[in-house]
Amino acid sequence: MVIDRPLVIATRNKGKLAEFRELLKDFPIEIKGLDDFGPIPDVVEDGKSFEENALKKARFTAKVLGLPSLADDSGLMVKALGGAPGVYSARYAGEGADDQANNRKLLQALEGVEDREAEFVCVIAIAVPRGPALIYEGRCQGEIAHEPKGEAGFGYDPLFYYPPLDRTFAELSREEKNRVSHRGKAMAELKAEFDKVLKWLQLRLEEEPP
Ligand code: IMP
Repeated sequence: MVIDRPLVIATRNKGKLAEFRELLKDFPIEIKGLDDFGPIPDVVEDGKSFEENALKKARFTAKVLGLPSLADDSGLMVKALGGAPGVYSARYAGEGADDQANNRKLLQALEGVEDREAEFVCVIAIAVPRGPALIYEGRCQGEIAHEPKGEAGFGYDPLFYYPPLDRTFAELSREEKNRVSHRGKAMAELKAEFDKVLKWLQLRLEEEPP
């Protein structure tokens, strides 16, 4: 079974696209990124949950391009902050804020707070131009450290202490992080089920006008 239309990964981030290409390389479907197409409007990520944002991106891209699309959304939820920064993780310290500013703001928000419990969440959505969509989710529990540690990774990795390995995410190799991270888990689940996803896509696309 070969799907005659490509799957579009709804991202312009080359690293993210490369990760999905690698993950799905043994499956009979062509993978494309947004940069393989002409300009299309950006989606406003104004959802209240990761699932809402991932679905919105996947649905919008599928509709605009008329092709099956995959999108992901992720972020950090801190228990003592009522789930913040959550869907605002990338811009916690303001629009255009960099990782350092976001980390500084997180440490300030948790000054004197004893409960450091936190969770990374990643949601992957797959949509076709019309009809229902598929959702995959991965979570990873940890604690917010009192100071940044480690050089690897990105975002909140230097502050995300992972007790089972007694290190922050920024102190792990990429392989170590992928084995336990929210994104690694969501991607592993997607890969494990991807044969079924392809069948689902084929059925959905047969029902659509070409
Ligand atoms: P996005 O899903 O790529 O938009 O990521 C949203 C934001 O969540 C990022 O900009 C990071 O601040 C944060 N984030 C998501 N995943 C990770 C991770 O694995 N490590 C550190 N920060 C992350």
